[in-house]
Order: sequence, then C-alpha cells, then structure tokens
Amino acid sequence: MAHTPLYPNTFLVTGPCSTPAEIADLTAHAFDVTDQLGVNTLVATSTSHLVSDYAGIVVVGPSLTSGTKGRQMDIVATVLEAKALAHRAPVIVPQATTEAASCDACGQWQTIATVRNGHGECFCRDCDGTASGCSWCLEDDETEPVYTGTGFAPMCAPCADVEKVRRPSPWNLTTSERIPAHA
Ligand SMILES: [Zn+2]
Ligand SMILES: [Zn+2]
Repeated sequence: MAHTPLYPNTFLVTGPCSTPAEIADLTAHAFDVTDQLGVNTLVATSTSHLVSDYAGIVVVGPSLTSGTKGRQMDIVATVLEAKALAHRAPVIVPQATTEAASCDACGQWQTIATVRNGHGECFCRDCDGTASGCSWCLEDDETEPVYTGTGFAPMCAPCADVEKVRRPSPWNLTTSERIPAHA
C-alpha cells in the first residue's frame, strides 16, 4: 500500500497522554519537532487519528520499534505506532540522548532526529536547506513554531506575529524569546 498522505508536511506526535501533565509534555515535544524539523505537528491524544493521512508519526517515550518494548507503553501511542507501521508511514522514535548534537552552523540543539552527513557534520534543516519554510506564506525563510490549537506550524516571523494575535497562547514564543536561539 503506497503511503500518500493527505497532510504531507504534518507529523502526528504521540506518547503518554492520559493526564493534563502528560499532554503538556507531549505538546512541548511537538514544539521541539516543529522547531527542529520545520514540519507541522499535531498532538495525538486519541487513537481516532488516521495515521495514513499524515507524513508520519513521532513517538515520545517507550516505542514498539526502539527497543523499549518491555516498558509499559501508552495505549494511544501503541495503537498509532502500530497503524503507522502497517501503513509503512515513517516512524520517528526517541533517539538516545548521546546522539543529540548542535547544528554546526547555527548551534540549534538537535534532540529529535539528529542527522550527520558523510563527514560527520550536523546541520539543522534550516541550515542544510531542507526545511520547507513558512507553512502560511511558503516563504523559504527561517521559521518558529506557532501553536495552532492542536499542535504547531512553522511560520516566518511576519506570519507568526499575525497568527499569535489571532490565537494567543502560552505556548507561543514572545518576540524577545526569538533572539537568543539564533544570536
Ligand atoms: Zn542550523
Ligand atoms: Zn510566512
């Protein structure tokens, strides 16, 4: 079965989600995924999501495929990961903390899916040019995650400013928080 997602730039982020604290953790993780991979994210809190509609899933915490099977897995995460595997959708499982590295160009800390090139160098998607840019205006610009109510969208600064006024949320960065990450 070919994997032809309806939302080719959106990843489901799944993991423990049975308490408000767990959902907050998952939401924080979704922020990191959007920040580091430059993709839209949707925080999955139920098994009702059609995994095949999305680019893939990011599993937070124990995962079927990361060798942490023995640990108790969240039921929502288990079902969604199993569906993703059945549909051959990409699954990003937690990487070892020792694999995290900073981008050689801008210094952004890569914790989700650190990629090194043939020379062992690590570049973030913004710096290696593979980020797809702003999800609103499609400008190939540096983006920041903006909370959409169910997840995050990568947006350039002008679009982010508009969306933050439309949808105020404590998950959104303030303008002053933007600068240190790329100072
Ligand atoms: Zn970078
Ligand atoms: Zn934009």
